[in-house]
Amino acid sequence: MNQNTSEKFAYDAIVVGSGISGGWAAKELCEKGLKVLMLDRGRNIEHISDYKTALLAPWDFPHRGEVPMEEMKEYPIHERTGFTITESTKDFFVKDVEYPYVEDKRFDWIRSWQVGGKSLTWGRLSLRLGDHDFEANVKEGIGIDWPIRYKDISPWYDYVEKFAGICGTRDGLPHLPDGIYQPPFPLTCLEEHLKESVKANFSDRHIIHARQAHLTMPTAEQLELGRGTCQSRDMCMRGCPFGAYFSTQSATLPAAKRTGNLTLRPHSIVNSITYNDKLGKATGVRVIDQNTKEVLEFKAKIIFLNASTLGTTHILLNSTSNRFPNGLGNDNGVLGHYLMDHHFSAGARGTFDGFQDKYTFGRRPNGFYVPRFRNIGKDKRDYLRGFGYEGTSGRGRNEEVEGFGISLKEKSSQIGPWSTDMMGFAETLPEFKNHVSLTNEVKDQWGQPVLKMSAEFGENERKMRIDMKNDAAEMLEKAGFKDIEAYDDEKGFGLCIHEMGTARMGNSPKDSILNKHNQIWGAKNVFVTDGACMTSSSCANPSITYMALTARAAAFAVEELKKQNL
Ligand SMILES: Cc1cc2nc3c(=O)[nH]c(=O)nc-3n(C[C@H](O)[C@H](O)[C@H](O)COP(=O)(O)OP(=O)(O)OC[C@H]3O[C@@H](n4cnc5c(N)ncnc54)[C@H](O)[C@@H]3O)c2cc1C
Ligand code: SF4
Repeated sequence: MNQNTSEKFAYDAIVVGSGISGGWAAKELCEKGLKVLMLDRGRNIEHISDYKTALLAPWDFPHRGEVPMEEMKEYPIHERTGFTITESTKDFFVKDVEYPYVEDKRFDWIRSWQVGGKSLTWGRLSLRLGDHDFEANVKEGIGIDWPIRYKDISPWYDYVEKFAGICGTRDGLPHLPDGIYQPPFPLTCLEEHLKESVKANFSDRHIIHARQAHLTMPTAEQLELGRGTCQSRDMCMRGCPFGAYFSTQSATLPAAKRTGNLTLRPHSIVNSITYNDKLGKATGVRVIDQNTKEVLEFKAKIIFLNASTLGTTHILLNSTSNRFPNGLGNDNGVLGHYLMDHHFSAGARGTFDGFQDKYTFGRRPNGFYVPRFRNIGKDKRDYLRGFGYEGTSGRGRNEEVEGFGISLKEKSSQIGPWSTDMMGFAETLPEFKNHVSLTNEVKDQWGQPVLKMSAEFGENERKMRIDMKNDAAEMLEKAGFKDIEAYDDEKGFGLCIHEMGTARMGNSPKDSILNKHNQIWGAKNVFVTDGACMTSSSCANPSITYMALTARAAAFAVEELKKQNL
């Protein structure tokens, strides 16, 4: 293979990955005057013009939205999970058959490998972690302590929320810190009813507006970047032509580009980080061009790894040198370990007889949220940590119809009852045995070893799921719902798509990979600010935390560069 190491490929900073966290790294570093190269392994996706399905109606799709069975064979992981890609969204997810990995234990790895990463396909719920999250490990003797507390990250949450644009309400709950919000989408009449009932019956439980990365009252800066108010179309996963939800394409990429400091290179698979033993620091990255398979080397003073949790750890494990024979920064053997995901899909659903004269307005792209209440304050369960619920409500078609012909058509075009679904999203404990490693059992198309996954949920998660199901049913019962179905539809590890850990932050190089500034202990010019850095998982959806940690680490990195410490 050709290897081109020309100095013309030299930058101040390299950002690996252009998803949620990489977009932030590029924006922050460019705005601070650094010449930045952002590399992404996937193809480019242009804002608006590449959202090919965004304005299509159901009848515009050849298969009315369903991916044909023959084509689904290229997506066996999606197929087996029932996490259904549709004709409108499939192009934003990789074909599983083209990107193999090995499953020591079942692991559902859902990947959006393109410029923008999963910022195009995410669900946008944006919740802060609080001190009960940062302190849980040390208080309970689980894993290791986080090297930061809420006060360290709180100003950075403010900073990223203002720019990203999160709608929601400030609810004054100590265990779900409030942020900076644009006005929320209204709750439906049924959700208002449920909220009142929960308030009357449970002093520790609350129904709040989902805090989500949608613009409902754009700021001058957001308008200037070409972003507009959310139109309540609920077709977000196709890409938003209004730039109304936060994505790399709508927000961080245009902000980085307008500085004139950004070079974006798609189709660039970062294979490894190059490390100079004598200097004791990284010198750049080795890249395989996705199309030509040419090997290139790019150099920079600092490197931000934002290839998503497992993408980043894959690169680190593959970055071996005399100094680091087991992967960059892996002096202690914890790289790849303490893999976490949220566990979900346990809760309850039910129907409601009232509000027959009412309907929903528009297609609100979110719903309500029930913040964690288990193991908070005096509540003590036979498991650790807890869960929150994501909920929606609405009225569908009348499905309870029989017959055929005109009468069937008439009956089924009548509106059905109100219904709701509350699904728990829950914390998973960090455990050494849950890990990924590199294997040569299979190689990818570019000759690289692939990841082997070995993770499973444990006893703590299983006990928690009983409450996830029963607590939801209890709230619905008290509010007068009927046909209540409490469910526990356990999903595979990975399917919550909140992979975290494997290169955790900590207070000591003895048992962590990163310090409190997200710097690799043994390679201080390399920063990991995606989910790989997480020391515990909280039950809060994680991406806003990656954004805040990235902005914080970028500010630190630039100061350290100025001081010539890197
Ligand atoms: C359907 C869905 C719903 C979700 N809902 C929520 C939610 O409501 N709230 C929430 O907080 N999170 C949610 N998430 C998770 C969220 O999308 C991720 O946490 C977030 O995108 C992670 O950001 P990241 O920057 O680490 O990675 P990504 O956004 O995945 O970006 C990683 C990028 O790195 C690139 N890359 C990977 N490997 C390499 C390599 N070797 N070389 C070069 N480039 C590479 C990829 O192509 C990709 O562009 C959801 C995800 C999905 C798919
Ligand atoms: S619902 Fe809002 S954010 Fe989603 S695609 Fe429509 S306008 Fe964009």
